[in-house]
Amino acid sequence: MKTKKKCAICANRFEPTRLDAKYYSNACKQKAYTQREKAELQPKETETVFYMDEYEYLKEFYGCDYEVFDLIFFCFLRRNYSGSGKENRENLINYFNSIWTGNNYEELKGRKAYRSFREKFLEGNFKIF
Ligand SMILES: [Zn+2]
Repeated sequence: MKTKKKCAICANRFEPTRLDAKYYSNACKQKAYTQREKAELQPKETETVFYMDEYEYLKEFYGCDYEVFDLIFFCFLRRNYSGSGKENRENLINYFNSIWTGNNYEELKGRKAYRSFREKFLEGNFKIF
């Protein structure tokens, strides 16, 4: 009795005609190929860039001292803001307001996401202009 294989695309079980057969049908084979191509065409994670003047602006706006609102924390929050809708200074301030009033930044800083961001930051993975 031949062992059946499970197609990685449609999950149908089939009797392989060749030892290296992976897919149930030609359509599945084609789909797998298209998926691979698409995956390879995905852009790599875009380099994140931060702007010092934005940081200075917000720091002044909030009257924060360096200890509370340090550059790394700003970049961490700023990166989360990127991609959340229309970017302009008013929206940016609203975003930071919601962080300030809705969350405890000390708690945010204790999170794993922040700690790993901080590590990457200190390794020099981000650009600041
Ligand atoms: Zn299939």
